[in-house]
Amino acid sequence: MSHRTCWLNGTYVAEEHAHVSIFDRGLLFGDGVYEVAAVFNGRLLDADRHLVRLERSMREIGLPAPYDADALQDMMQRLASENGIREGLVYLQVTRGAAERDFPFPSQVTPTAFAYARPKKLSDDPNAVGIRLHVVPDLRWQRCDIKSTSMLAQVLAKQAARQAGAFEAMMHEDGLVTEGGSSNVWIVRNGTIYTRPTSCDILAGITRDVVLEVARDAGVPVQQRAFTVEQAIAADECFMTSATSFVLPVTQIGDKRVANGVVGPVSMRMRDGYLARAARLTG
Ligand code: PMP
Repeated sequence: MSHRTCWLNGTYVAEEHAHVSIFDRGLLFGDGVYEVAAVFNGRLLDADRHLVRLERSMREIGLPAPYDADALQDMMQRLASENGIREGLVYLQVTRGAAERDFPFPSQVTPTAFAYARPKKLSDDPNAVGIRLHVVPDLRWQRCDIKSTSMLAQVLAKQAARQAGAFEAMMHEDGLVTEGGSSNVWIVRNGTIYTRPTSCDILAGITRDVVLEVARDAGVPVQQRAFTVEQAIAADECFMTSATSFVLPVTQIGDKRVANGVVGPVSMRMRDGYLARAARLTG
């Protein structure tokens, strides 16, 4: 039995007592959006940026924001603290709410909002020794910029990755890498970092934004340009980013080793720079 506290529609409640309707549109249609923010040194990391993106996701799907960002940020911090999380994450989801099942928006509906916190190793992540990506076609829709809870394509991609013994999926469209199953993907060639430009084809990762800043501060050149799976395999280095993995070096793509399977110096500089910034902001 869990003794964790979550938050549901404005109320703090034990997780085992948090229930939603079978008619919730999040359950029926995946009609909802979400965010995941890291907790580091017991403090939320970049929650303001995550909440800006949440507001954008809600706006893009015509879901009126049920709470303002400041209230949500206070709530997320309280969840982290009450659950004793030093390193981990807070998950926050907003759905259009419960109504008789009908595809168009219901005329009278109250959004469902909930959040929970979990511990996770971030500074001392065992995957920092290098991970393997599993290559799959990107089967998603044309609004991947919205952080939607409709994620069957990613569920299948990440299950295929797990079955292949890989940590993460690398999705591509006609050979061009879009992103990871739940991460952004980067390569390094001749000292320059490459990552796909933001568009409706990928999620504009918050970690991606921060790593662009870390690279700029470190004087490492970056080009926001798409690359192919073949180019990633042949790259000097490859790494992935997400709010709950920070920066993880990639040492294998499918059955091919990247850079002879050795973690690259630029990847480690980005990881260390990211960790140093996280420590500065939360210490
Ligand atoms: N792309 C996808 C598809 C994701 O699900 C995620 C994780 N939410 C990311 C990229 C990375 O985004 P962030 O850095 O904001 O976690």
